[in-house]
This record gives sequence, structure tokens and C-alpha cells, in this order.
Amino acid sequence: MTGAVHICRACDEPIADPDDAVLLWREESMSGPPRSVWAHRKHADLVQPDHDLLRILARVLIAKAARDPS
Ligand SMILES: [Zn+2]
Repeated sequence: MTGAVHICRACDEPIADPDDAVLLWREESMSGPPRSVWAHRKHADLVQPDHDLLRILARVLIAKAARDPS
């Protein structure tokens, strides 16, 4: 942990208590390293992956695989 305050993906509020922060998944970024997605413990079940981002990422990976079949 870096000590940075995480933002809840469900309610967009800062997660003040580190013990209340749940790491949901790592999200690919168009520019820069993957980002961690966090939520309050009680909000973790409310968060769904962004299907648009998943679809775009899948298309990029498919295009890369088609171009470089190794
Ligand atoms: Zn929350």
C-alpha cells in the first residue's frame, strides 16, 4: 500500500479507513500503468466492470494477436 487515499468506484467518495478499502481489480489504462479499482467494503458488491472498456481492450488484444501470430 502506498498510503494514498483510494476513491470508491461505487460512490466516488474517498475511503478514509484503509481497512475498509477493498481492491476490486486492476484496470488497463490507455496511457500509463494499470490502475487499481477500489471500493468501500459495503459497496464492493455494487461495482460492475466497465463493459465498454473491456470490449475495447478485447478488440485491441484480438487485433494484436491477429497481427502477430506467434
Ligand atoms: Zn463507497
